[in-house]
Amino acid sequence: AIPLVVAINTSLAARNGMLIRDRIAMEDARNLDAIIFDKTGTLTQGEHGVVGTATVDGVDEDEALELAAAVEGDSEHMIARAIREAADERGIDARDADDFEAMKGRGVRAFVDGQEVYVGGPNLLNHLDSDVPDALRTFADEAGENAQTVVYLVREGELIAAFAMADVIREESYRVVDALHDLGIEVAMLTGDSEDVAKAVADELGIDTVFAEVLPEDKDVKVQELQDQGKLVGMVGDGVNDAPALTRADVGIAIGSGTDVAVQSADVILVQNNPMDVVRLVKLSKASYRKMQ
Ligand code: ADP
Ligand code: MG
Repeated sequence: AIPLVVAINTSLAARNGMLIRDRIAMEDARNLDAIIFDKTGTLTQGEHGVVGTATVDGVDEDEALELAAAVEGDSEHMIARAIREAADERGIDARDADDFEAMKGRGVRAFVDGQEVYVGGPNLLNHLDSDVPDALRTFADEAGENAQTVVYLVREGELIAAFAMADVIREESYRVVDALHDLGIEVAMLTGDSEDVAKAVADELGIDTVFAEVLPEDKDVKVQELQDQGKLVGMVGDGVNDAPALTRADVGIAIGSGTDVAVQSADVILVQNNPMDVVRLVKLSKASYRKMQ
């Protein structure tokens, strides 16, 4: 038979919008040493808007945006949506692109009028072995310092434009970090975004540990890194990208509308997209299992 207290806390959890897929993990939640949060869409709202554009000589902003929007035409990513919206707001008509390819954690690639065009962040530039030209460096640095995500436009091997996009830190995130610290839990953040954006967000929130520019296939390695320090680790994420990290974590927590893959990889599902529920989960675990001893 299921111990009564477990049955109680499961229904209590359900009433609090927490679905428990693994009871052991629920019990472990009270002993977590560290919790890693996905940045975009979890600690931030994940609603990027294009707030600035810079181009190299000979390329104008509309032309750059038109090209970028064409390449992002088939992408579901929030960055893609923001670029299409920005083009739309300027009255730029959607253009066709061929052979679209999503490069997970890096960006996108497609052909426009036979030209190979990429849009993506620092991980894409590493992949292409491409550098930010001097003409765009100040723009990119300033954006990064302001916690704006920068993506680049590369046409036929030449980096010709940069777009700065602003995301907003969620009000609840401040309280989450404080509350977890009060519980003695280390707070970490994991993101595919650039070092400087990650650092700006982490500094603002008082986050202890930052993993930035992490490719989707390496996210679980960062969880393991903390586990190798002898820590019991929780991971909070919502995306397909987060699934291996959720599986690797001692307590994998899928949040919000989360993708099916994330939900299937998690031990606990937080139905509402409220990071404060992570704190409630830890407290509920502490309250429930203390009684059993
Ligand atoms: P996160 O870890 O924040 O969920 P992702 O792994 O989805 O981020 O993406 C990491 C980085 O890859 C983004 O910050 C961006 O630089 C780049 N990127 C991913 N998808 C796209 C896209 N469709 N267009 C442009 N850049 C992208
Ligand atoms: Mg994500």
